[in-house]
Amino acid sequence: MADASEGRDVRVRDVVVLGGGFAGLHAARCATMVHPERVGGGGGGDDGRFRRLDVVVLEGGDEPGGRVKVTRDLAPWDVNLGPEFVHGDENSALKRFADACGFATFEREWPDRYFLGDEGVLMGADEAETKNVDVKLVHELFDELPNAPKEGEGDLTALEWLTTRVKAPERVIKLAENIYANDFCASLGKLGMRELIEEKKGWIYGEKYLILDRPLREVALALADGLDVRLGWEIESVDYSRPGAVKIKRRGSNEVITARKCIVTLPVTTLRSECPGNRVKFIPRLPAAKVRAAETIQMGNASKVFLGFRKRLWPSDLFDVVCTNCFLPEFWITEYPKSSVAREAKSTKEAALIAETVGLVTFFVAGDLAGELDRMPEHIVFKRAIEQLDMIFDTSCAEHVTTKKIVSWSQERLVQGAYTHPTVNAGDARMMLAAPVANTLFFAGEATHTGVNPCLQGAMETGERAAAQVRASILGIGGHSKL
Ligand SMILES: Cc1cc2nc3c(=O)[nH]c(=O)nc-3n(C[C@H](O)[C@H](O)[C@H](O)COP(=O)(O)OP(=O)(O)OC[C@H]3O[C@@H](n4cnc5c(N)ncnc54)[C@H](O)[C@@H]3O)c2cc1C
Repeated sequence: MADASEGRDVRVRDVVVLGGGFAGLHAARCATMVHPERVGGGGGGDDGRFRRLDVVVLEGGDEPGGRVKVTRDLAPWDVNLGPEFVHGDENSALKRFADACGFATFEREWPDRYFLGDEGVLMGADEAETKNVDVKLVHELFDELPNAPKEGEGDLTALEWLTTRVKAPERVIKLAENIYANDFCASLGKLGMRELIEEKKGWIYGEKYLILDRPLREVALALADGLDVRLGWEIESVDYSRPGAVKIKRRGSNEVITARKCIVTLPVTTLRSECPGNRVKFIPRLPAAKVRAAETIQMGNASKVFLGFRKRLWPSDLFDVVCTNCFLPEFWITEYPKSSVAREAKSTKEAALIAETVGLVTFFVAGDLAGELDRMPEHIVFKRAIEQLDMIFDTSCAEHVTTKKIVSWSQERLVQGAYTHPTVNAGDARMMLAAPVANTLFFAGEATHTGVNPCLQGAMETGERAAAQVRASILGIGGHSKL
């Protein structure tokens, strides 16, 4: 029931979820859900404990999905700007949900090729990982983590570990930066070994590398289906000074939504004392330990450089190439069936180029190099990326390029980074970040995963945890989670 004269929604909702990414959407689904044991058996019970909660999701962006976003100006299909892959098919809430929706996944080998820049050779990953001593050593080191800090020892960065404990040669360190900075979203000098070990221990999803038969946006839309999601609803403040009546104020308006409990799934950057361009004010202030935790866990930076092609200049089975001693460390190639949704072209010429595109090369760059890319003129980045492809495919690529784009995740105002990375001296910061406040604010989002898992299924697990806590708080059931 909305009171238009004051711009206030006077209905008190059970739960308000802040942020409509995968953590928020999944939290809302889990919080709304009728208790599974009661489904089909009189769900909605007469003591009220099993009733369906009244949940609203507030999202500042214009689509549900958060970091799951697509662009329509590169290819005749929707191109993922953020996540693209399903990491693992075991114990994964994401895989279960995609399966339940009838979405197919295909397994890919990652990486399936190496381009060894020093020698100018493109070779299969199996060959590189067995025959090339540096590639072999890097994988062995990160698989086995010899001399990494033990329980009770102080933390160190992956760079310190490689230089002082492993005494790895310089070229092995460069290669490790190539492969693992991209994977973990931080350069070796910023990667914390303790959390890296924690993530390895907590990885229960298997090693399969899967791609979906459609853009991940369709998973986001399916997650949002049936929920009350308010888009373009940017949050200015969260007033939890009165228990049982959290008031959320919309930025640039006097609209307020009130709820008994609140699940905060905003990116970790918004919980810091300073968050340029997206400051969410909490009234009263969040506990100092929570803010310290948000400032401790580091958000990594990543960029994608896209190049569309009218002709396939690569072997038909090529998927992902790790490039050593090159300008950009990795790229993959994707092709999807044409979408029926109109493309976003600024001119008929641009529309023709999009329509002509048959394959898309996506360079992925994370860590310090992503910061360097942010400072380079775009035309230089494209020129050097094309030169790199010329060298790898031994042909002239420029005349076959149709479309180009760079997306830098540090510039995405509502997120301000790509995803959190294993952080040096993180201690129990992720647990602090996840802890409820005043039995009123409950926290989710990838950064709050105590298994240091920044993947989509990790975000969903944190949403499930927060929903269980909220249901326990309102209805007095469940609420236990090992996360
Ligand atoms: C380039 C890139 C590649 C990645 N690759 C993969 C991959 O291949 N596989 C994988 O599993 N994961 C991948 N990830 C990680 C994955 O995207 C994240 O872990 C996951 O999307 C995080 O979900 P979340 O709900 O915690 O956060 P988000 O998706 O960021 O959701 C938080 C939401 O809060 C909203 N918000 C922020 N401020 C406000 C405000 N003031 N008011 C209202 N709303 C606000 C944001 O718009 C956002 O929608 C990748 C991420 C990036 C950036």
